[in-house]
Amino acid sequence: MTTDPVALARDISDGFLFPGALDVDASDIVPIDRLDRLAAAGFYGLAGPADAGGMGLDDRRKAFEIIEILASGCLTTTFVWIQHHGAVRAVADAPPAFRDAWLERLCRGTVRAGVAFSGLRRPGPPILTAVPDGEGWRFTGLAPWVTGWGRVDVVRAAARRENGDIVWALVDAAAGDTLHADPLRLAAVNASATVTLSFEDHRVPANRVIGLQNFDEWQAADRSSLRVNGSLALGVARRCAALLERSALVAELDARREALDHGSPEAMPEERARASELALRAATTLVVSGGGRSIAMDHQAQRLAREAIFLLVFGQTAAIKAAQLHRLYDESHG
Ligand SMILES: Cc1cc2nc3c(=O)[nH]c(=O)nc-3n(C[C@H](O)[C@H](O)[C@H](O)COP(=O)(O)OP(=O)(O)OC[C@H]3O[C@@H](n4cnc5c(N)ncnc54)[C@H](O)[C@@H]3O)c2cc1C
Repeated sequence: MTTDPVALARDISDGFLFPGALDVDASDIVPIDRLDRLAAAGFYGLAGPADAGGMGLDDRRKAFEIIEILASGCLTTTFVWIQHHGAVRAVADAPPAFRDAWLERLCRGTVRAGVAFSGLRRPGPPILTAVPDGEGWRFTGLAPWVTGWGRVDVVRAAARRENGDIVWALVDAAAGDTLHADPLRLAAVNASATVTLSFEDHRVPANRVIGLQNFDEWQAADRSSLRVNGSLALGVARRCAALLERSALVAELDARREALDHGSPEAMPEERARASELALRAATTLVVSGGGRSIAMDHQAQRLAREAIFLLVFGQTAAIKAAQLHRLYDESHG
């Protein structure tokens, strides 16, 4: 009997993740049993092909819905887990030797990955650079945000070489003389164990290089990949809607999901801005409805409200930020 992955996600979200979400929120690091449960259900292989132990989903909207459902259970757990899928996709497209060495373990979640690429979005000189070292490379500089430290085995890191191209590598998630991790204390998803990584002439052997990519090509791909993180905001709004039992909010959530699913890359910054705005408004409504008790640390409303604030800035690009500021300021002040 095949289990429908969407139904499975719903069971795990409502029956396992949501009941523990306040405890996770108060932890220093997401408990390993949360992530193990997702691995056991096959969700580490969400983006992987079936022939390598992945879920082999051919409908992207199903994958987005699964992310939304899990995020509605526990955003912190889902946030750590979601960092993994870029590595799965990249390794699935890597040369056969690399694919054979890593893909199945990634899909099964016996090897778990984080990602360090957001520095690529910062204008100005690259903040993480790569210089050739024999067949491999040496990385120097900063990855300002790396989530899941202590819960991931490898980090898919992006550094820029002298001609501007990107060197993508799977780096061991192990601090040492040439790799330092500085923990960040966060107002939401603190248990995501997010750190700033500093590389100091850190050796990346040739067998850890996933591939090289032209920077302009990456920028175009980045603009086309903004849909996925919108599911985190929809997840927060979804939980608020369930707790509030408001059909108008459910209808709005459906409309936002529809717009994200069908939006062009050009429309996506505006749709992402609208999705995070909905999460914030839904969480605000939950806080207001709960009255003073909403502010108690054992109340879901304050957790969801902090998470909605976080989702205003996580995965923000210059275009998303411009759309958000336009909506927040220009529309209310003429
Ligand atoms: C808690 C948390 C965890 C995260 N975890 C990860 C992770 O695990 N891996 C990962 O790769 N990323 C991670 N991120 C990064 C996330 O994707 C970023 O929020 C996003 O990339 C923007 O990063 P930033 O806010 O540091 O960018 P900033 O550099 O502050 O810039 C914000 C936006 O404004 C634009 N901008 C900045 N300066 C200028 C300028 N001078 N001119 C024009 N535009 C400008 C940038 O292009 C960017 O889009 C995490 C972020 C947070 C908050």
